[in-house]
Amino acid sequence: MTEALIQLFAAGHDGLFEGLVLPLLSACGLMAYMEEAFDFTEWFLIGLLEVVFLAAVILPLERLAPAERRGPGGPGDRMRIDVAYTLLHRLGAFSIFIFAVLQTPVLKLRDILGDWGVPTIELDAALGLAYAPMLGALVYLVILDFVDYWIHRAQHKWNWWWALHAIHHSQRRMTVWTDNRNHLLDDIIRDAILAVLALFIGVTPSQFIGIVVFTRVWQSLQHANIGIPLPGLVSRALVSPGFHRLHHAVSIGHEGVSRGVNFAVLFPIWDMVFRTADWTADRRLAQHEPLEATGIRDQEQGVDYGTGFWSQQWIGLRNMLRALAPGRGGQTMGPS
Ligand SMILES: [Zn+2]
Ligand SMILES: [Zn+2]
Repeated sequence: MTEALIQLFAAGHDGLFEGLVLPLLSACGLMAYMEEAFDFTEWFLIGLLEVVFLAAVILPLERLAPAERRGPGGPGDRMRIDVAYTLLHRLGAFSIFIFAVLQTPVLKLRDILGDWGVPTIELDAALGLAYAPMLGALVYLVILDFVDYWIHRAQHKWNWWWALHAIHHSQRRMTVWTDNRNHLLDDIIRDAILAVLALFIGVTPSQFIGIVVFTRVWQSLQHANIGIPLPGLVSRALVSPGFHRLHHAVSIGHEGVSRGVNFAVLFPIWDMVFRTADWTADRRLAQHEPLEATGIRDQEQGVDYGTGFWSQQWIGLRNMLRALAPGRGGQTMGPS
């Protein structure tokens, strides 16, 4: 079954490349980039399958059992813009593209450091998992998710970074498409940190693609407006829609000592260990109680985070520069 699906995917990949991409490259005089275009076609197809899965499986679940029924909201809350972000991110293979761009320079740097006597790590080989790539990928997934937790803590802690990350929190109608509403600079910084780390510890391109696809699909699910609580054990093992919804809640999601709660991207264990976990929303969902409103507190006072792609990108950048300005310290931009 799996073998048949892989063959079907490979046939689709070849067909799209030979039928459309290759003639386009030839017409534009870009045949020198054939190899890169072949890889990009594969990433595009993977992203397309993801979007089809979100639309065919998770979207109907939102309609069937929504966590909350709310009105259409303001112009900045429309779902359409989030769909555009998702298409840009998934079809444009954002994270994988950054990994591919950084691959050569980072591996060269690793070799240079190795020549200087700095020990280099192939973690899966060191753990005896060189011939078990799936198990190796699982170990890498846990390590990258741990770092992602701390990236997310920093996105809330540092005012300049919060100014960018606030664009993600500005959607007040959570849906399956909300995950990719991000400032592009925020995406690039996070993806670059994770890609450099992955390359340094020996993650292979195919392992990285597998990790990215699983993370992206699960992140879309945890933003979905689904009112069905996950079974207890699953929701303790993987971030549930209720758990992440509280991370988006007005006030509790971005204020307080840690400037928020529930920062984990995949595994809530990090929030449990570092005392930032809050299971209130899961409990409320299970007891059919109303949920916290989502968004940022100052939106209630009329602070604008943009209604379209360019205005959101501009406002995030402007707020970041203000937060970095000498003497400002970003006090008005911070989440608390
Ligand atoms: Zn956040
Ligand atoms: Zn989120």
